[in-house]
Amino acid sequence: MLHKASTAGGLGFCHPALPGLLPSGHHGPLVVALDSNILIDLQQHGSELLDEGSLTFEGDATGGYLAELAALADLLNLWLLRDIRFVVTPASKTDAKKAAERMVAKRQRAIDALANSLAFQLGDWGMLAPSERPAPVPIGDETGLPPGPDRDLVLEAQAVGAHVFLTRDEEVLSKTVLTGPFMAVRSPSALMAELSSADVQPFFGGTCGGAGCPYEDWACLAPDLGKLDGLLSILDESGSM
Ligand SMILES: [Zn+2]
Repeated sequence: MLHKASTAGGLGFCHPALPGLLPSGHHGPLVVALDSNILIDLQQHGSELLDEGSLTFEGDATGGYLAELAALADLLNLWLLRDIRFVVTPASKTDAKKAAERMVAKRQRAIDALANSLAFQLGDWGMLAPSERPAPVPIGDETGLPPGPDRDLVLEAQAVGAHVFLTRDEEVLSKTVLTGPFMAVRSPSALMAELSSADVQPFFGGTCGGAGCPYEDWACLAPDLGKLDGLLSILDESGSM
């Protein structure tokens, strides 16, 4: 069900339009697994990211990091209207909580709440969210990264069926070598650049429109915005910390 086109999910994406991101024959949602660094970005800056025009971050948000946050904001805005499914794997949640531990205890609860809120997207898709399940058994192999948490994160994302592993970690971006089921590893800016070059817009683009494509005669319906409510309630909470 995670990969199946659904009216509630909104307009999805097709392999012929995005061959670098989707496996051959796929016409459906874009499933994006979030690395722990992206989860923390969402927890720390989520409200600003959703509120376009307020991208004024304090402190360390400069240069490349600011560009990645801006791309993450664009991705969130696209996620609202298109069938992009964010998933959080057990290792990503644990890793983010570990990083949050060094900040404050409240942040850890916020990470849990954020993972739960993203899990709601899967509420009516007939499966438990990956963050609520035991760690999945790897179904591929990874040979470019040293053994450790990064490799586990990548393999878990692949095992839950993600098309893209979204991360800001330079080493993971440059060194990951995966075998097994197709999965791309991208930074927010690289993912947005790829979507833009395929002319993906909030209401069109990124689909093939071929015979048998589920999006061939797609009515221009807004997706179920329940996912936004879940996310907003969490972000408001963490924003007041
Ligand atoms: Zn198609």
